[in-house]
Amino acid sequence: MADSFHDLIDCRDVSKTYISGNGPVYALGPTTFSVESGETIALVGPSGCGKTTLLLLMSGLEKPSNGSVRFRSQELTAPHREIGLVLQHYGLFPWKSVKENVQLGLRIRRESLHGNRVEELLSELELSDKVEFYPQQLSGGQRQRVALARALALNPKLLLLDEPFAALDTLTRERLQDLVAEMWRKRRFGMALVTHNIQEAVRLGRRILVMRVEPGHGGQVVAEVDNPSACEAAYRGSDEFHRKTLMVRERLELWA
Ligand code: ADP
Ligand code: MG
Repeated sequence: MADSFHDLIDCRDVSKTYISGNGPVYALGPTTFSVESGETIALVGPSGCGKTTLLLLMSGLEKPSNGSVRFRSQELTAPHREIGLVLQHYGLFPWKSVKENVQLGLRIRRESLHGNRVEELLSELELSDKVEFYPQQLSGGQRQRVALARALALNPKLLLLDEPFAALDTLTRERLQDLVAEMWRKRRFGMALVTHNIQEAVRLGRRILVMRVEPGHGGQVVAEVDNPSACEAAYRGSDEFHRKTLMVRERLELWA
C-alpha cells in the first residue's frame, strides 16, 4: 500500500453500522484503502454491499462507526470544499437555471466566480446552448451533466460519483463516461466512482475494488483489479477493455 503521506484520501479500517428502529444495520465491515492524487478508482458490487455508505464516508457527510478517514492527512469530520459529490438524482434546484445551478456552490462559498470558468465548463460539457434553461426542460443526460459541472466548478481535488449514470440509456451513459474521462485527462482530479455496472467500472476506474456483502457483517472489499488504461481515449472496444471486464465479472461471481 502506498505511503499514506502521499495519499489524497485514506480510509483505515472504516466500518459503518446504522442504528435503525429495528436494531443495528451492519452496512460496511472494516475496510482499508486509499486514493492517491490524480488517481481514479471504481467501487463495484451488488446492491446493498455498502458502496453508497463508503462514498458518504469519503465525502464527510457520514461518520464511520470505527476507523478513520483522512483527507490530505487531516481527519475528515465534515464535508470539505475540495471534495465534490455527484449523486444519482442530480440534486438540481428546479427554480434555478442551468447557469445558476452550476454557480451555486461558488456562491454558497462566497467565492468569486472565476471569470469564465463556469462558461468554460458548460461548453466542455456541451451545455452552452442550455445555460438559461431550467432543469425540467432538460433530458436526464443533460441534467447529469449540469450536476457534474456544478461539482467541477469548485475545482475539487477529489470527485465522488455515486451511480451517476444509472438512470440513463446505454448510449447516453457511454457518452457521459467518455466526457468524464476527458475531463479527468485534462484536470487529473482524484476520483472515486460507485457503480454496479462492470463496463462503467472498467471505463473509468484505474483501480477497481470489487465488493461483496455478507449478511450480518456488512459489505467488504474482496478483490482489486489493476486497470491502468481506464479513462484513456478509445479504451472501450479494445482487447484489454474486454479482458478487464471479464476479470471483474469473474471476481464478482467468485464472491457472489
Ligand atoms: P449500496 O450503495 O451498495 O447499494 P448502501 O451503502 O446504500 O449499499 O447500503 C448498505 C446497507 O446499509 C443496506 O443494507 C442498506 O439497507 C443499509 N443502509 C443504508 N443507509 C442506511 C440508513 N441511513 N439507515 C439504515 N440502514 C441503512
Ligand atoms: Mg447505492
